[in-house]
Amino acid sequence: MSLDIILKRALVEIENCTNLATLDECRVRYLGKKGELTELAKTINQAPVEDRPRIGQQINQIKDSIHNEIEKRLQQLQLIEIEKQLARDALDITLPGRGQAHGHLHPIAITRQRIESIFKTLGFAVVEGPEIEDDYHNFGALNIPKNHPARAMQDTFYCENNKLLRTHMSPVQIRTMEMQRPPLRIIAPGRVYRCESDLTHTPMFHQIEGLCVDKEVTFANMKFVMQEFLNAFFEKEIPVRLRSSHFPFTEPSAELDIQCTQCSGKGCRICSNTGWLEVMGCGMVHPNVLKAVNIDPEEHQGFAFGLGYDRLTMLYYNVNDLRAFFENDIKFLHQF
Ligand SMILES: [Zn+2]
Repeated sequence: MSLDIILKRALVEIENCTNLATLDECRVRYLGKKGELTELAKTINQAPVEDRPRIGQQINQIKDSIHNEIEKRLQQLQLIEIEKQLARDALDITLPGRGQAHGHLHPIAITRQRIESIFKTLGFAVVEGPEIEDDYHNFGALNIPKNHPARAMQDTFYCENNKLLRTHMSPVQIRTMEMQRPPLRIIAPGRVYRCESDLTHTPMFHQIEGLCVDKEVTFANMKFVMQEFLNAFFEKEIPVRLRSSHFPFTEPSAELDIQCTQCSGKGCRICSNTGWLEVMGCGMVHPNVLKAVNIDPEEHQGFAFGLGYDRLTMLYYNVNDLRAFFENDIKFLHQF
């Protein structure tokens, strides 16, 4: 075959290559180790001796030409690729930004902040304490005798070395009274732990306990503070009633009920048709508790209260299953 024809054909093929891959195939086809021109060069010894230099030269010239054409085409195709890439990645900097999706507080955390701010306006400070406690702070100092059912294994999570997960926020009251002298007005919000789980109980739940110790503190003061707090929390007048009760760490003790926020006292499923909801325990601090922290009960009295604010969150937001708050279902949490 005439070398000119090969050259013409090669030039057309190179021109027709529309991407880098086909161009490379083309290069291999003509210039590769087994390419058409390389094969042709191998047959040169079949030509008459005097023609061989001329034929060799011609083959080399054609190789050079094809090589140059491929290089030219390569540069063109690379430019085209770059332009395509730029078109693909085009960025319109005048478009408005996508914005950052913001998280928000968990409903339980919102409730906690609301309760804290209400008590702050009533002159209470917010204090904290450890979640892993010792027996003394969780029970002993709170006048809970050794045989009290609250110490039984089914209620309390015990850890190694006689430590336990606090079952209420009272140990923080003890720790505060160990550090500070009266007058004291504190609330202690936090996580507490008990071995139980059903519609209205989870093994971990949130409690706020409050404590007020001063000279001449009375049961009436306590009722006033509770009433003020509940009115502020529910953003309306909330009828309350106190029922006599028993706790080891208060004397006298009471359960405080609020009129059912769902049915306004008419009776419904939430309040088991009683019209009332039990929301907290409270009472005057037991003299033995004051003695345990070296406060003279003849000189100072105090009142204390404890409430589960998970339950207040349920009532405030009208959610019936406590567990919904701890399943971390984003769709549920987004509603708040
Ligand atoms: Zn009701």
